[in-house]
Amino acid sequence: MLQGTRTRRRRIPPFRRRELPSVYLALLAFGLVVPLLPPLDMPDVPVTTPVLAPEPAPEPPPPVQVQLVAPGPVVPRAALLNKLADTHTIALTFDDGPDPRWTPKILATLRRHGAVATFCMVSKNAAGHEELVKQVVDAGMRLCDHSHTHDEQLPDRDPARIDDEVVGAQSTLSAAAGGASVKWFRAPGGNWSTEVTKLSVEHGMQPLSWNVDPRDWERPGAAAIVAAVQQQIRQQAPDGPIVLLHDGGGPRDQTVDALEQLIPWLAEQGYRFGFPVP
Ligand SMILES: [Zn+2]
Repeated sequence: MLQGTRTRRRRIPPFRRRELPSVYLALLAFGLVVPLLPPLDMPDVPVTTPVLAPEPAPEPPPPVQVQLVAPGPVVPRAALLNKLADTHTIALTFDDGPDPRWTPKILATLRRHGAVATFCMVSKNAAGHEELVKQVVDAGMRLCDHSHTHDEQLPDRDPARIDDEVVGAQSTLSAAAGGASVKWFRAPGGNWSTEVTKLSVEHGMQPLSWNVDPRDWERPGAAAIVAAVQQQIRQQAPDGPIVLLHDGGGPRDQTVDALEQLIPWLAEQGYRFGFPVP
């Protein structure tokens, strides 16, 4: 971390003195109520994070709060999903993997910071790398179907082909992950059609869009990726950011470097890492 960033931490305005009693009361009430709440039923999220063979033991949890949102029944939406449960949650999404060169690095960075993300995988890329898909899920991440072959002309294909690209890929990814559910679909290139959207919803997948896109696949440099995310979050994501990044489709060393800088910055801004609304 750069030395200069230390002085800019925590921009939370100080409480006024007369507001402090009510703040303490609220904290006390929160502490009394939360233990009474029933535990969330999260069938898709492992309670414990298995230790991945090639990695050292996880470090102590850093000050990044992870928010796990339990998947619920899919409610069809008229528009693409482009918002989050609340404005303080951020959803990091990684497209075009899995890639044995980059997905493990992204995963290790997320785990080291206690962050979670959604991986929009191309099922063709999962062939021969099923263990990678499983590692992603076992680490508490979630899967999004990004088609079978990343055909960006998907809406122009015949129904059987579309079915294979959308539903076939969902089955392949789920099987690779040991039966984990795949709750989102993201069209290759963001090229949507009514048929593609309808098909994904019929199979339990919300169409997943984004509202922050630093175009990391153009490899503008890690600093440019970081700056683009920071600027777009401020300007384009008042309802909560869904950030489009890539762990496959080409060299992703810049994305890895950018992520290492972005996670602490996002935590300093008060964001919690979570998933899109399923
Ligand atoms: Zn893609």
